[in-house]
Amino acid sequence: MKQEINIIKVGGAVVEDAESLATVLDQFADVHGHKVLVHGGGREATRIAASLGIESRMVNGRRITDQDMLRIVTMVYGGLVNKTVVAKLQALGINAIGLTGADMDIIRSHRRPLKEVSMDDGHTEMVDFGYVGDVDTADGKALSDIVESNIVPVVAPLTHDGRGTILNTNADTIASAVARALAPFYRVTLTYCFEMPGVMRDPEDKDSVIRKITRESYAMLKADNVVSGGMIPKLDNAFEAISQGVSRVVITHFNDIAARNGTTIL
Ligand code: ADP
Repeated sequence: MKQEINIIKVGGAVVEDAESLATVLDQFADVHGHKVLVHGGGREATRIAASLGIESRMVNGRRITDQDMLRIVTMVYGGLVNKTVVAKLQALGINAIGLTGADMDIIRSHRRPLKEVSMDDGHTEMVDFGYVGDVDTADGKALSDIVESNIVPVVAPLTHDGRGTILNTNADTIASAVARALAPFYRVTLTYCFEMPGVMRDPEDKDSVIRKITRESYAMLKADNVVSGGMIPKLDNAFEAISQGVSRVVITHFNDIAARNGTTIL
Protein backbone atom coordinates (compact mmCIF):
# COMPACT_ATOMS: atom_id res chain seq x y z
CA MET A 1 0.00 0.00 0.00
CA LYS A 2 1.45 3.36 -1.05
CA GLN A 3 1.90 6.09 1.53
CA GLU A 4 -0.03 9.32 1.22
CA ILE A 5 1.38 12.66 0.16
CA ASN A 6 -0.26 16.07 0.03
CA ILE A 7 0.71 18.58 -2.65
CA ILE A 8 -0.65 21.96 -1.66
CA LYS A 9 -0.61 24.91 -4.03
CA VAL A 10 -1.10 28.38 -2.61
CA GLY A 11 -2.14 31.18 -4.96
CA GLY A 12 -0.19 34.39 -5.42
CA ALA A 13 -2.80 36.60 -3.76
CA VAL A 14 -2.60 34.49 -0.59
CA VAL A 15 1.20 34.50 -0.52
CA GLU A 16 1.48 38.28 -0.82
CA ASP A 17 -0.85 39.01 2.11
CA ALA A 18 1.02 38.47 5.42
CA GLU A 19 -2.06 37.46 7.38
CA SER A 20 -3.33 35.01 4.75
CA LEU A 21 0.15 33.54 4.41
CA ALA A 22 0.40 33.01 8.16
CA THR A 23 -3.01 31.28 8.14
CA VAL A 24 -2.14 28.96 5.29
CA LEU A 25 1.31 28.06 6.65
CA ASP A 26 -0.12 27.28 10.10
CA GLN A 27 -2.52 24.87 8.45
CA PHE A 28 0.14 23.44 6.17
CA ALA A 29 2.33 22.77 9.24
CA ASP A 30 -0.55 20.73 10.71
CA VAL A 31 -0.94 18.47 7.66
CA HIS A 32 0.21 14.99 8.67
CA GLY A 33 2.74 12.95 6.76
CA HIS A 34 4.59 13.73 3.56
CA LYS A 35 3.86 17.05 1.91
CA VAL A 36 5.02 19.54 -0.72
CA LEU A 37 4.10 23.23 -0.97
CA VAL A 38 3.90 24.98 -4.35
CA HIS A 39 3.49 28.74 -4.32
CA GLY A 40 2.43 31.30 -6.89
CA GLY A 41 4.10 34.61 -7.53
CA GLY A 42 1.51 37.31 -7.11
CA ARG A 43 1.83 40.95 -7.89
CA GLU A 44 5.02 41.48 -5.89
CA ALA A 45 7.05 41.03 -9.11
CA THR A 46 5.04 43.77 -10.84
CA ARG A 47 5.56 46.13 -7.89
CA ILE A 48 9.29 45.51 -7.65
CA ALA A 49 9.68 45.83 -11.43
CA ALA A 50 7.88 49.18 -11.28
CA SER A 51 10.15 50.39 -8.47
CA LEU A 52 13.13 49.59 -10.72
CA GLY A 53 11.56 51.42 -13.64
CA ILE A 54 10.73 48.21 -15.53
CA GLU A 55 7.33 48.15 -17.14
CA SER A 56 5.17 45.00 -16.88
CA ARG A 57 3.75 44.17 -20.28
CA MET A 58 0.42 42.36 -20.21
CA VAL A 59 -1.64 40.86 -23.04
CA ASN A 60 -5.25 40.14 -22.06
CA GLY A 61 -4.29 40.19 -18.39
CA ARG A 62 -1.37 37.81 -18.91
CA ARG A 63 2.20 38.78 -18.22
CA ILE A 64 4.79 38.90 -20.99
CA THR A 65 8.07 37.69 -19.48
CA ASP A 66 10.76 39.64 -21.34
CA GLN A 67 14.40 39.43 -20.30
CA ASP A 68 14.14 42.14 -17.63
CA MET A 69 10.97 40.61 -16.20
CA LEU A 70 12.58 37.16 -16.15
CA ARG A 71 15.31 38.58 -13.93
CA ILE A 72 12.71 40.10 -11.63
CA VAL A 73 10.54 36.96 -11.35
CA THR A 74 13.66 34.85 -10.74
CA MET A 75 14.65 37.15 -7.88
CA VAL A 76 11.17 37.60 -6.47
CA TYR A 77 9.63 34.12 -6.88
CA GLY A 78 12.82 32.10 -6.40
CA GLY A 79 14.29 34.44 -3.79
CA LEU A 80 12.05 36.74 -1.79
CA VAL A 81 8.80 34.77 -1.88
CA ASN A 82 10.31 31.27 -1.75
CA LYS A 83 12.79 31.99 1.03
CA THR A 84 10.23 33.93 3.09
CA VAL A 85 7.93 30.91 2.99
CA VAL A 86 10.80 28.56 3.91
CA ALA A 87 11.84 30.75 6.87
CA LYS A 88 8.26 30.93 8.13
CA LEU A 89 7.92 27.14 7.88
CA GLN A 90 11.17 26.71 9.81
CA ALA A 91 9.66 28.91 12.54
CA LEU A 92 6.74 26.46 12.65
CA GLY A 93 9.10 23.52 13.11
CA ILE A 94 8.89 22.32 9.49
CA ASN A 95 12.24 21.53 7.92
CA ALA A 96 11.59 23.00 4.49
CA ILE A 97 13.83 23.44 1.46
CA GLY A 98 13.09 26.01 -1.23
CA LEU A 99 13.46 24.87 -4.84
CA THR A 100 12.95 26.09 -8.37
CA GLY A 101 12.56 23.58 -11.18
CA ALA A 102 16.28 23.98 -11.91
CA ASP A 103 17.29 22.73 -8.46
CA MET A 104 18.06 19.00 -8.68
CA ASP A 105 16.66 19.24 -12.23
CA ILE A 106 13.21 18.82 -10.74
CA ILE A 107 11.16 20.44 -13.53
CA ARG A 108 12.25 20.92 -17.12
CA SER A 109 10.32 22.90 -19.65
CA HIS A 110 10.65 24.44 -23.09
CA ARG A 111 10.01 28.01 -24.05
CA ARG A 112 6.44 28.46 -25.23
CA PRO A 113 6.16 28.97 -28.98
CA LEU A 114 4.18 31.92 -30.35
CA LYS A 115 0.55 31.44 -29.46
CA GLU A 116 -2.65 32.62 -31.09
CA VAL A 117 -4.59 34.64 -28.53
CA SER A 118 -8.07 36.08 -28.94
CA MET A 119 -8.09 39.68 -27.80
CA ASP A 120 -10.81 41.50 -25.87
CA ASP A 121 -12.06 43.18 -29.06
CA GLY A 122 -12.52 39.77 -30.71
CA HIS A 123 -9.59 39.69 -33.15
CA THR A 124 -6.78 37.16 -32.75
CA GLU A 125 -3.07 37.85 -32.62
CA MET A 126 0.11 35.76 -32.45
CA VAL A 127 1.64 36.54 -29.07
CA ASP A 128 5.18 35.84 -27.86
CA PHE A 129 4.88 35.35 -24.10
CA GLY A 130 8.66 35.52 -23.78
CA TYR A 131 10.49 33.45 -21.21
CA VAL A 132 7.54 31.28 -20.26
CA GLY A 133 8.07 27.55 -19.85
CA ASP A 134 5.65 24.77 -20.73
CA VAL A 135 6.53 21.73 -18.60
CA ASP A 136 8.14 18.67 -20.24
CA THR A 137 9.27 16.56 -17.28
CA ALA A 138 9.11 16.54 -13.50
CA ASP A 139 11.40 14.25 -11.49
CA GLY A 140 9.26 12.43 -8.95
CA LYS A 141 12.16 10.28 -7.76
CA ALA A 142 14.26 13.33 -6.83
CA LEU A 143 11.29 14.85 -5.00
CA SER A 144 10.54 11.60 -3.19
CA ASP A 145 14.20 11.34 -2.10
CA ILE A 146 13.83 14.76 -0.44
CA VAL A 147 10.48 13.88 1.10
CA GLU A 148 11.79 10.55 2.41
CA SER A 149 14.53 12.48 4.22
CA ASN A 150 11.70 14.22 6.11
CA ILE A 151 12.37 17.50 4.35
CA VAL A 152 9.47 19.47 2.90
CA PRO A 153 10.01 20.87 -0.61
CA VAL A 154 8.69 24.39 -1.26
CA VAL A 155 8.54 24.85 -5.02
CA ALA A 156 8.60 28.26 -6.75
CA PRO A 157 6.87 28.84 -10.11
CA LEU A 158 10.13 28.70 -12.08
CA THR A 159 11.44 25.93 -14.34
CA HIS A 160 14.49 25.53 -16.58
CA ASP A 161 15.12 24.42 -20.14
CA GLY A 162 18.22 22.28 -19.46
CA ARG A 163 20.33 24.69 -21.51
CA GLY A 164 20.88 27.28 -18.81
CA THR A 165 17.74 29.35 -19.04
CA ILE A 166 15.21 29.79 -16.24
CA LEU A 167 11.60 30.04 -17.44
CA ASN A 168 8.53 31.49 -15.75
CA THR A 169 5.87 28.77 -15.33
CA ASN A 170 2.33 28.93 -14.01
CA ALA A 171 2.20 27.65 -10.42
CA ASP A 172 -1.00 25.61 -10.99
CA THR A 173 0.81 23.77 -13.79
CA ILE A 174 3.84 23.18 -11.55
CA ALA A 175 1.60 21.76 -8.81
CA SER A 176 -0.10 19.42 -11.29
CA ALA A 177 3.27 18.29 -12.74
CA VAL A 178 4.69 17.64 -9.25
CA ALA A 179 1.57 15.70 -8.24
CA ARG A 180 1.70 13.54 -11.41
CA ALA A 181 5.42 12.89 -10.98
CA LEU A 182 4.85 11.68 -7.42
CA ALA A 183 1.88 9.47 -8.32
CA PRO A 184 4.01 6.35 -9.09
CA PHE A 185 5.42 6.56 -5.55
CA TYR A 186 2.52 7.77 -3.38
CA ARG A 187 -1.22 8.14 -3.11
CA VAL A 188 -1.36 11.81 -4.04
CA THR A 189 -3.85 14.46 -2.99
CA LEU A 190 -3.43 17.76 -4.84
CA THR A 191 -5.06 20.77 -3.18
CA TYR A 192 -5.37 24.14 -4.88
CA CYS A 193 -6.12 26.80 -2.29
CA PHE A 194 -7.09 30.37 -3.01
CA GLU A 195 -9.33 33.11 -1.60
CA MET A 196 -12.71 31.51 -2.38
CA PRO A 197 -14.33 28.50 -0.68
CA GLY A 198 -14.12 26.42 -3.86
CA VAL A 199 -15.47 26.50 -7.40
CA MET A 200 -18.60 28.61 -7.05
CA ARG A 201 -21.87 28.48 -8.94
CA ASP A 202 -22.25 32.17 -8.03
CA PRO A 203 -19.06 33.97 -6.86
CA GLU A 204 -21.23 36.39 -4.83
CA ASP A 205 -22.85 33.57 -2.85
CA LYS A 206 -20.53 31.90 -0.33
CA ASP A 207 -22.95 28.98 -0.03
CA SER A 208 -22.85 28.12 -3.73
CA VAL A 209 -19.75 25.90 -3.69
CA ILE A 210 -19.96 23.14 -6.29
CA ARG A 211 -19.01 20.06 -4.25
CA LYS A 212 -18.02 17.75 -7.08
CA ILE A 213 -17.01 18.32 -10.69
CA THR A 214 -16.71 15.56 -13.28
CA ARG A 215 -15.46 15.95 -16.86
CA GLU A 216 -19.07 16.03 -18.02
CA SER A 217 -20.19 18.67 -15.53
CA TYR A 218 -17.01 20.70 -16.25
CA ALA A 219 -17.93 20.91 -19.93
CA MET A 220 -21.36 22.24 -18.95
CA LEU A 221 -19.95 24.71 -16.41
CA LYS A 222 -17.66 26.10 -19.11
CA ALA A 223 -20.41 26.30 -21.69
CA ASP A 224 -22.64 28.14 -19.19
CA ASN A 225 -19.79 30.53 -18.26
CA VAL A 226 -20.01 29.47 -14.61
CA VAL A 227 -16.24 28.97 -14.64
CA SER A 228 -14.00 31.47 -16.39
CA GLY A 229 -10.64 33.22 -16.20
CA GLY A 230 -7.97 31.61 -14.04
CA MET A 231 -10.35 28.83 -13.00
CA ILE A 232 -10.26 27.23 -16.47
CA PRO A 233 -6.50 26.45 -16.56
CA LYS A 234 -6.77 25.42 -12.90
CA LEU A 235 -9.48 22.86 -13.69
CA ASP A 236 -7.64 21.72 -16.84
CA ASN A 237 -4.59 21.06 -14.65
CA ALA A 238 -6.79 19.26 -12.13
CA PHE A 239 -8.24 16.87 -14.73
CA GLU A 240 -4.77 16.32 -16.23
CA ALA A 241 -3.58 15.27 -12.75
CA ILE A 242 -6.52 12.90 -12.22
CA SER A 243 -6.02 11.30 -15.64
CA GLN A 244 -2.37 10.66 -14.75
CA GLY A 245 -2.67 8.82 -11.48
CA VAL A 246 -3.32 11.52 -8.87
CA SER A 247 -5.91 10.15 -6.44
CA ARG A 248 -7.73 13.32 -5.48
CA VAL A 249 -7.78 16.99 -6.48
CA VAL A 250 -9.47 19.55 -4.25
CA ILE A 251 -10.02 23.27 -4.84
CA THR A 252 -10.68 25.13 -1.61
CA HIS A 253 -10.22 28.21 0.58
CA PHE A 254 -6.77 28.81 2.04
CA ASN A 255 -8.14 28.50 5.57
CA ASP A 256 -9.64 25.09 4.78
CA ILE A 257 -6.71 22.95 3.64
CA ALA A 258 -8.41 19.97 5.26
CA ALA A 259 -11.04 20.79 2.57
CA ARG A 260 -14.20 19.87 4.38
CA ASN A 261 -15.97 22.52 2.33
CA GLY A 262 -14.19 22.71 -1.00
CA THR A 263 -14.71 21.31 -4.48
CA THR A 264 -13.50 17.79 -5.33
CA ILE A 265 -12.53 16.92 -8.90
CA LEU A 266 -13.54 13.40 -9.94
P1 ADP B 1 -4.81 31.69 -7.93
O1 ADP B 1 -5.24 32.64 -6.84
O2 ADP B 1 -4.81 30.29 -7.46
O3 ADP B 1 -3.59 32.11 -8.65
P2 ADP B 1 -6.40 32.21 -10.35
O4 ADP B 1 -6.58 33.67 -10.28
O5 ADP B 1 -5.52 31.62 -11.38
O6 ADP B 1 -6.03 31.65 -8.92
O7 ADP B 1 -7.82 31.48 -10.50
C1 ADP B 1 -8.80 31.65 -9.55
C2 ADP B 1 -9.79 32.70 -10.03
O8 ADP B 1 -10.74 32.11 -10.91
C3 ADP B 1 -10.65 33.28 -8.93
O9 ADP B 1 -9.99 34.30 -8.21
C4 ADP B 1 -11.86 33.80 -9.72
O10 ADP B 1 -11.68 35.13 -10.09
C5 ADP B 1 -11.86 32.97 -10.99
N1 ADP B 1 -13.06 32.17 -11.18
C6 ADP B 1 -13.73 32.07 -12.34
N2 ADP B 1 -14.82 31.32 -12.21
C7 ADP B 1 -14.85 30.90 -10.92
C8 ADP B 1 -15.77 30.09 -10.18
N3 ADP B 1 -16.87 29.56 -10.75
N4 ADP B 1 -15.51 29.88 -8.87
C9 ADP B 1 -14.41 30.42 -8.29
N5 ADP B 1 -13.52 31.20 -8.94
C10 ADP B 1 -13.74 31.46 -10.26
